[in-house]
Parts: sequence; C-alpha cells; structure tokens
Amino acid sequence: MRARRPHRIAVCNPWRRVVFAADCDPDTDECPVCGIDYALCDCPGPTMGDYEYSERGGVLYGRKARGLGS
Ligand SMILES: [Zn+2]
Repeated sequence: MRARRPHRIAVCNPWRRVVFAADCDPDTDECPVCGIDYALCDCPGPTMGDYEYSERGGVLYGRKARGLGS
C-alpha cells in the first residue's frame, strides 16, 4: 500500500502579464500585449475575482486560479 500522490498541476495554466486599463492606448483602447481592443482581448485584468496574482520584476502577472470548477 502506498500513499497517493497529489494531483498533478496542469501545465495549461500559464502566468500571463496583467494588463491595466491605463496601459492601453488612450485613443484606440488597444491592449499593449495583443494589440486588439482591450474590451475584446483575453488578457487578465488586475481585479479578476478568480485569478491569482504574482509580481515579478515590477510586472504583475496573473493566472486563473484553480479549483473553482466554473
Ligand atoms: Zn490583451
């Protein structure tokens, strides 16, 4: 009998740079990371309720928190 190992962490949950509204182009509202309208892009914002955040080198990164199942 051996202990069960904890579930593996999925690798499809990468850290991504958080984009603030203030980072976007004031005229076009384009996201500086992906270059499309901030309202349409898929980048994490700074106040996503189901995201976890980590700051590295003065840049904030976020990724979707696990275990919420929704
Ligand atoms: Zn974006």
